[in-house]
Amino acid sequence: MQTDQLKEIIVIGAGVVGLTTAIKIQEKGGYRVTVVAETFPTDPRTIRYTSHWAGTHHVNQAFGDERWKAMDKETFEVMWRDSESEVGAAARCFRRHNHTEFHGDGVDPSPWLDHMPDYQKVPEDNLVPGSTAGYTFTTFTLNTPVYINWLLARFLAGGGTTKRMSLQHITQVLEGVDAPNPTVIVVCPGVGARFLGRIEDKNVYPIRGRAILLRMEGPSRVQMGHHEEILTRALALSADLAPPNICKARKPTTDDLRPLIGGIRLEVKWIDQGVQDKARIPVVYNYGHSGVGFQSSWGSASIALGLLESALEKGESQKEGYIDVSGN
Ligand SMILES: Cc1cc2nc3c(=O)[nH]c(=O)nc-3n(C[C@H](O)[C@H](O)[C@H](O)COP(=O)(O)OP(=O)(O)OC[C@H]3O[C@@H](n4cnc5c(N)ncnc54)[C@H](O)[C@@H]3O)c2cc1C
Repeated sequence: MQTDQLKEIIVIGAGVVGLTTAIKIQEKGGYRVTVVAETFPTDPRTIRYTSHWAGTHHVNQAFGDERWKAMDKETFEVMWRDSESEVGAAARCFRRHNHTEFHGDGVDPSPWLDHMPDYQKVPEDNLVPGSTAGYTFTTFTLNTPVYINWLLARFLAGGGTTKRMSLQHITQVLEGVDAPNPTVIVVCPGVGARFLGRIEDKNVYPIRGRAILLRMEGPSRVQMGHHEEILTRALALSADLAPPNICKARKPTTDDLRPLIGGIRLEVKWIDQGVQDKARIPVVYNYGHSGVGFQSSWGSASIALGLLESALEKGESQKEGYIDVSGN
């Protein structure tokens, strides 16, 4: 395709979600992609950029959420292939290892985890104190600063361009970027969605956590007590965390809290460009990945690409909002 026939796409955000989405669009073909961001992987660590801080492993935690399960599974399949070789550009990004998780809560994660390589139940004799079941499988951990720099290099090598801007408002990119007729803006600002004009999504907020890195000798292995315990403890402290109608009708359970954890915003909306005579433009939103931005990155990028292509094909007449392109 000639370069003047390429459609111009602007992606806001250069974290794992923005870069993965930019690459997904770029590698589909037919698009010229510009990534606009305040912070890039090559910058020093800052609290305004989450992807530098994650100590990421891939463990699907979808419970009954089919869309989430599909996103994590697709991402796993892409990263599993990338983690295969011990040589080459992606080699330093991944480390495969055994992962075992123990449950004392009666939850059986098989419906969303049994596709993992070497998946099996832990024999009763090997359970840790306090657990009633355990599940073991092979997965990988990512070296996140190396991985996001690898993504950036892949995007640039594919012909992508970047522009550093601190945006007050989404449509500011239309003036600041050398892409005279952008056809779609894709918004992946992470926690920045709370403050960025035209989104200002107050459902997005930062949370404080702590990660401890340990140097480990011997074979690679991770053991994890399941985070269901956090919900159980929260509910014991304050039963009214559950929705009022449930509290009135019966004793709430951790299942009642799970839908309140929130989810990724993946949808399309059409907005005015703010300049006279300029047509309205579709905006694809892909943010709010909380603690799973790496492990859902390729799956959510696929959905964002589907939304983008559907908006371009059908125009503004299509129903706005979430379109299920996962095939579920
Ligand atoms: C300790 C820790 C452990 C974690 N463990 C895991 C794990 O095991 N597995 C997993 O999958 N995930 C994990 N995560 C979560 C993961 O790190 C996040 O989900 C992910 O980094 C979010 O990426 P993002 O691209 O959405 O946001 P970010 O990385 O924050 O990127 C946002 C981008 O948007 C840009 N931006 C925002 N606002 C503006 C603006 N106004 N103008 C211009 N640019 C703007 C920023 O500059 C940046 O480039 C962990 C996180 C932490 C902190």
